[in-house]
Amino acid sequence: MKVRVDRNLCTGLGNCVALAPTVFEFDDENKAVVLDPASVDDETLLEAAESCPYDAIIIEDDEGNQVYP
Ligand code: SF4
Repeated sequence: MKVRVDRNLCTGLGNCVALAPTVFEFDDENKAVVLDPASVDDETLLEAAESCPYDAIIIEDDEGNQVYP
């Protein structure tokens, strides 16, 4: 799975960081950045993406197909 955060959509709410701190952290601008998506299982990744009310977390499978949102 590939994960990225749309910086224009992220408001720094922090749900993703709270749910998956090994995958997401805040940068200097209080936007979430991706650390290590492989550190959690796919279910946790999806849960973290679903926790973002702005759909700022985009997940793709290894073939590049968008899985979420
Ligand atoms: S949950 Fe969404 S808005 Fe909040 S920090 Fe994560 S990506 Fe940004």
